[in-house]
Amino acid sequence: MNQVQPIFILPEGMIVAETIRTTLGPKGMDKMIVDSMGDITITNDGVTILEEMQIEHPSAKMIVEVAKTQEDEVGDGTTTAVVIAGELLKNAEELLDKGVHPAILARGFRLASIKANEILENISEPISEKDNKMLKQIAMTAMTGKGAEIAKEKLSEITVKAVKEVMGKENNVININKDNIKLEKKSGGRVDETELINGIVLDKERAHASMPKSVRNAKILLIDSALEIKDTTTSAKIKIKAPSQMQTFLEQEEKMLKSMAEKIAKSGANVVFCQKGIDDVVQHFLAKNGIYAARRVKESDMKALTRATGASIVGNLDSLSEKDLGKSGFVEEVKINDDNMTFVRECKNPKSVTILIKGSTEHVVDEIKRALEDAIGDVSAALKEGKVVAGAGSTETELARQLRKFAESLSGREQLAVANFAEAIEVIPRTLAENAGLDPIDVLTDLRAAHDKKQKWAGIDVFTGKVIDAWNKGIIEPLKIKTQAISSASEVAIMILRIDDVVAGSKKEAPMPPMPQGGMGMGGMPPMM
Ligand code: ADP
Ligand code: MG
Repeated sequence: MNQVQPIFILPEGMIVAETIRTTLGPKGMDKMIVDSMGDITITNDGVTILEEMQIEHPSAKMIVEVAKTQEDEVGDGTTTAVVIAGELLKNAEELLDKGVHPAILARGFRLASIKANEILENISEPISEKDNKMLKQIAMTAMTGKGAEIAKEKLSEITVKAVKEVMGKENNVININKDNIKLEKKSGGRVDETELINGIVLDKERAHASMPKSVRNAKILLIDSALEIKDTTTSAKIKIKAPSQMQTFLEQEEKMLKSMAEKIAKSGANVVFCQKGIDDVVQHFLAKNGIYAARRVKESDMKALTRATGASIVGNLDSLSEKDLGKSGFVEEVKINDDNMTFVRECKNPKSVTILIKGSTEHVVDEIKRALEDAIGDVSAALKEGKVVAGAGSTETELARQLRKFAESLSGREQLAVANFAEAIEVIPRTLAENAGLDPIDVLTDLRAAHDKKQKWAGIDVFTGKVIDAWNKGIIEPLKIKTQAISSASEVAIMILRIDDVVAGSKKEAPMPPMPQGGMGMGGMPPMM
């Protein structure tokens, strides 16, 4: 047989997977990443670790792509996806050693991956926006074993509320734009002081000390041009010959600035957020009118404010009308540690909300933020698709069992490949056990036995090593985490299997092997033989 074994390509991808597999699950360890500047990150988050690792080898880079796709599509399950990809490659190597042709193996993996999706759909359970308890459990599962664990009750409540607040529904299709949940970090407090604001938090203080510190029933003006007179020195070409002229000039300028403040006051606004600067004189007159103002607000925050308050951004004051103003129940300046921040609270049906993350140090708040992103991703994915499964290795064990049954219906080498794929999926319960210091063989034997007895949600209790019903224990995850992880992992494994050589391109910087359009979409795969 003409053997084209891509063996020399495989190990690189496997090493990537090995590096992060110790972080999987509630008992997974963290990694400390030290970059070239000496800055450190302590994390348990797969994609963060991979992003920081200096990965050069093309096939290893493809494994990193698996993590990125998972991150973009779901926001959680990156370690799972990479560990499965690594295991598929490892198992593939064994079969290649036994003389199975890579093309046959690739075909078997392809069959298995399609079947896997079907099985996962079948075993999943429905969920709707009304299932608050389950949504909270999903958020908690995402945070188990992470820095966020200490306050996971409160953080999961916040997660579910935030996601539901920004959720939209059109023709019964749920859409959620995660960008509308702003995660603002502030170190120097306790994690359980983390707070959901039905509105926006700006890292800005009020412009002038004599402005009010807080405003009830705020009517908010958003303006994206400066509240100043532009370039007095250059554009107003006035030659001042006498001191009186100077006086008139200044008076006139003050009149213009004062009229800006008056136009704002006349519109009914009592809060102003300006994307550019605000002249001292304007500040003074705004303050006199009891108006709260902040200047140099970021463009992204201005957009978020439109969604939270219903205001529209105006470009100049001449056409200003009350219709342009947004609303919020309460705007206040709050001192957090040494910084003053502006809270725009109590917005009605805000399309944009903020989670203000607190924690003792910067490293803590960073890790909480990553855990919240995972939780937000999972709750959103569950709501969008309306389907969930149980975790703790239960789904993977059940999937492997059904795939083995499917393998029996195939013939010869394909059967081998599908059975091999099934075993690779079991890397998840195996790794959860290993990371918990349990004997993976014992655990897997117990799990398989339970699944043979039709306990489809039998998973592993990582604290005792006993088999539990993961569903009843509330260890719940969105179906999408699993389907996405398995399809991108197998697509990359298949792609790597089909490479028989790495050829240096003519360009100095060798490009990565091309990925299919739109991430790992099945449609992008080359036709199978
Ligand atoms: P990933 O980056 O893949 O999300 P995690 O470190 O978050 O990696 O681990 C996810 C795995 O941990 C999933 O397989 C999930 O089912 C499992 N898991 C989560 N909570 C528990 C729990 N309480 N007991 C056992 N396994 C759990
Ligand atoms: Mg996770």
